[in-house]
Amino acid sequence: MARPFNFSAGPATMPEAVLRQAAAEMLDWHGCGMGVMEMSHRGREFGEILEQAQADLRALLAIPDHFKVLFSQGGALAHNAMVPLNLAGRHPQRAVDVVVTGAWSQKSAQEARRYADVQVAASGADGGYTAIPDPATWRLRANPAYVHLCSNETIHGVEFHQLPDLAALGCDAPLVIDFSSHVLSRPIDWGRVGLAFGGAQKNIGPAGLTLIIVREDLLGHALPICPSVFDYRVLAEQQSMVNTPPTWAIYVAGLVFQWVAAQREGELTGVAAMEARAIERARLLYEAIDGSQLYVNLVDPACRSRMNVPFFLRGDDGRPLKDPAHPRNAAFLRGAQQRGLLQLKGHKSVGGMRASLYNAMPIEGVQALVDYLREFERSA
Ligand SMILES: *Cc1c(COP(=O)(O)O)cnc(C)c1O
Repeated sequence: MARPFNFSAGPATMPEAVLRQAAAEMLDWHGCGMGVMEMSHRGREFGEILEQAQADLRALLAIPDHFKVLFSQGGALAHNAMVPLNLAGRHPQRAVDVVVTGAWSQKSAQEARRYADVQVAASGADGGYTAIPDPATWRLRANPAYVHLCSNETIHGVEFHQLPDLAALGCDAPLVIDFSSHVLSRPIDWGRVGLAFGGAQKNIGPAGLTLIIVREDLLGHALPICPSVFDYRVLAEQQSMVNTPPTWAIYVAGLVFQWVAAQREGELTGVAAMEARAIERARLLYEAIDGSQLYVNLVDPACRSRMNVPFFLRGDDGRPLKDPAHPRNAAFLRGAQQRGLLQLKGHKSVGGMRASLYNAMPIEGVQALVDYLREFERSA
């Protein structure tokens, strides 16, 4: 029987082939007599799994040699603290500039204030986070410890389709990006990035694994209060094995990396194939929303996310219905559930609906959603 299509923002849908492989290997990994959950993280078997996963991620994202790939825990929110604890010391007054384009970067700014002198360089709050302020208007300091942005705002559905060139904006600082919810859906311009971090549970695998990809010259500035298991230099020196890493999550992430590498779209493979599919999925859904009288997405088309599509049904007065308990919203969600279209309810802070279209979402899932949108509109 076909599985339903799961539009959760995270933890989120996984490639079915990966789930089946993990299930098949659950009791015995490659004939060693142990499941991955049961083996020592210091043993040869897990060593292979870890090294392979790191190498595969490096290859998929074309990460240059002068960047370290670190596996950690704590989720993206822990690293909202760990990034300032590791990098703020690069500036004598711990100056950190943050570009706020939605809920996640807003949280990052707030957490960094505990450890750093944070300046909000630009904010999309006034417009309800429906647009990215033009980089030419950002109030950046000349050389803060770093500049933070969230390259895909999972809740507000706002994505940077191009990362800013800080040097061209007169700012001599490394760019830090929270790429939790679109990692592996597009290539990354490493020439513009100093550090990228994100939780795995959106576009990669099980919750519990956090990725950090950091330029080597940024290591070694941790504040004395930084916990040593989260000191990025120590993590790099000890191959992400300061203590027991999230072994199961790393193993499943590794299966996802292999799955991504094997995907093809015409001539394209790997992340390029993922990007082609992401563009197609997003096109299908935004066209259906824009072409309807009932549905609306409020985000500036120049920065609409390919991964997370918040949208509203309109009320009889034409206004977006934010309250999930409104009878029209409730009927929409009920009908979706009956058709095997799961977890479409929007984030509580935004309301309405949200469809997350991660790498593991087949195009058929988006087609089924679009068919349902049209059917529901005819009946509404
Ligand atoms: C989900 C998410 C987070 C929070 O991640 P946790 O792993 O729950 O800490 C942070 N940033 C972005 C962009 C996210 O999508």
